[in-house]
Amino acid sequence: MFENLSDRLSSVFDRLTKQGALSADDVKTAMREVRVALLEADVSLPVVRDFVKAVEAKATGQAVTKSITPGQQVIKIVHDELQHVLTGDEDPGKLKIDNPPAPILMVGLQGSGKTTTTAKLAKRLKDREGKKVLMASLDTNRPAAMEQLAILGTQIGVDTLPIVKGETPVQIAKRAKTQASLGGYDVFMLDTAGRLHIDAELIAQAAEVRDVANPRETLLVVDGLTGQDAVNVAQEFDDKIGVTGVVLTRMDGDGRGGAALSMRAITGKPIRFVGLGEKMDAIETFEPQRIAGRILG
Ligand code: GDP
Repeated sequence: MFENLSDRLSSVFDRLTKQGALSADDVKTAMREVRVALLEADVSLPVVRDFVKAVEAKATGQAVTKSITPGQQVIKIVHDELQHVLTGDEDPGKLKIDNPPAPILMVGLQGSGKTTTTAKLAKRLKDREGKKVLMASLDTNRPAAMEQLAILGTQIGVDTLPIVKGETPVQIAKRAKTQASLGGYDVFMLDTAGRLHIDAELIAQAAEVRDVANPRETLLVVDGLTGQDAVNVAQEFDDKIGVTGVVLTRMDGDGRGGAALSMRAITGKPIRFVGLGEKMDAIETFEPQRIAGRILG
């Protein structure tokens, strides 16, 4: 067993010719290792296939630089291509919050880390950009979830919309909008209800809230440890609601980060932030090179 892809490739190339250009056969052998490493990192099969094809095309026939080994050279090509696939056009951490009060809609399945992420982002906007933020929970089915957001709000010093029993999510969204305008808030964040699985009611409710709130950003929160499931969830939310970005949580866990690559390649949606723990500061802007390093091992 090899520790990581770099070790594997070095070992493969030790057995292969070391001079001149990378031959098609050498590259093919190396690509077998790359394929295994990506699958072990939980990248989905169609994405692995496309990725390997792209790397193979770039690597074949490339002259081997004297200063590095063929293994290192292939690693570099793989690394660059990973970054290329993972990188979006814009600064992922820059939320569109001009024209106050700017609505941000938070969507995702129950347990994905949606409420925690809402509070983390609110704190970030307050601390880093000096924004006045209002948070509102729309999870009328789960009073505990509404309480949880209020508790987090107190903890981080961000206001939450007072809870009024008996309101519908749409009524809460409207009240949040009014309150945000009257109170001079820069941003109001709507933490929508989550469920264990995507169902018609969840989607209908989120769509209704979206139509009322007209969000500047719709951020989908997904559990980064759920691999291919996370990608399916993202695809479905994007098809039905339309999302402007993804937050991958639990990236502090054991996962190798393959979900990030599949997410970007399949949904085309940028990953904006990664959650790195339960604490309120445990969130960072998505950095492709870090995930690339993690996938390569
Ligand atoms: P929600 O149902 O989607 O709103 O999920 P919560 O925000 O209540 O989070 C569920 C659990 O996951 C809580 O115990 C959070 O502290 C935890 N959690 C959220 N984000 C992260 C993360 O990035 N890393 C880790 N380790 N735990 C997280």
